[in-house]
Amino acid sequence: MTPEARAERVIRDAIVRHGGRVAVACSFGGPSGMALLDLVQRIDRTLPVYYIDTGLLFPETYALVARAGRRYGIAPVALQPALTVAEQDARYGAALWERDPDACCALRKVAPHRAFLRGYGAWLTAIRRDQSATRAEIEPVADDGAGLVKVSPLFDWSEADVWAYVNAHDVPVNPLLADGYPSLGCIPCTRRASADDQRAGRWTGFAKTECGLHHAPAGRAS
Ligand code: SF4
Repeated sequence: MTPEARAERVIRDAIVRHGGRVAVACSFGGPSGMALLDLVQRIDRTLPVYYIDTGLLFPETYALVARAGRRYGIAPVALQPALTVAEQDARYGAALWERDPDACCALRKVAPHRAFLRGYGAWLTAIRRDQSATRAEIEPVADDGAGLVKVSPLFDWSEADVWAYVNAHDVPVNPLLADGYPSLGCIPCTRRASADDQRAGRWTGFAKTECGLHHAPAGRAS
């Protein structure tokens, strides 16, 4: 079975298992999320697609949200933090990400994500085993640590598999990937880096490698 066929089966199984109460996470940053988005659109165009709009994303990322929306005829849902960046600055001090990125991610990413997922049974994400040591043992279906099932259809795809899919299906990708960014998130926490390490360039200077959405232990959910 090809990686694409395996991923499709994982997605279809999740939809059946959760009666359609499945949402699709897409950061509009890396190529994996765009491959997953395209794959899902071939299977079920009614699943809600969402991204976490921290208010600090690159203009190219917002442009890709709009482009993908036109391409697939969807309206990705922008999950927004309770506080604007200015309000967060006023309450916690300017540039919280420079002093405590975990707290900043908790406020700007994790909290709106958990709030949005209430009522869903599962969410799809494009994380892969080969992206980092912390993702090396992820399973296609796992407990997300917060009561839902996290489904990772591309869990065993390689970077080459992703680009082969993107090129074969003419999937739109973030133009910054061709400008030295192997991984894209918020502007203050993203740097150009070697493409050898797909998570390099994120939270430079900190031990942090994840934003908090993918900290749950791997393992199959019951
Ligand atoms: S990636 Fe950086 S700026 Fe974005 S929410 Fe996390 S710490 Fe804050």
